[in-house]
Amino acid sequence: MDCIFCKIAARQAKADIIYEDEETVAFRDLNPQAPTHILVIPKKHIDSLSACGEQDIELLGRIQAASAKIAEKLKISDAFRLVTNNGAKAGQSVKHLHYHLMAGRRFMWPPG
Ligand code: 5GP
Ligand code: ZN
Repeated sequence: MDCIFCKIAARQAKADIIYEDEETVAFRDLNPQAPTHILVIPKKHIDSLSACGEQDIELLGRIQAASAKIAEKLKISDAFRLVTNNGAKAGQSVKHLHYHLMAGRRFMWPPG
């Protein structure tokens, strides 16, 4: 499968990887929308959150736990946003489940 995030996870494409464990990888977004903008992904290819099944529930928990750990490591625990765009109409451009971990600026609510 020709998936850029699978390639990054497999070290077949370059990325600034800042965290890795058995099931997840995190790297800096190529086009950051905040002073800190990290993408947290499962190593396993899943198209989106909607494509997750019962078998992925533990993995989803691990992604969130990894995100909190990364936030602690980057000293942004007091203020960050963790978001996934699900589907093209919601802004998803890469079809491999990923969470944007963003910090370092003020975030609006509701989001744009
Ligand atoms: P989406 O729009 O799907 O929610 O988020 C995809 C994100 O992946 C975008 O913020 C985009 O900048 C980032 N991105 C796309 N291709 C690459 C890449 O090859 N390397 C890195 N580091 N980020 C990428
Ligand atoms: Zn993939």
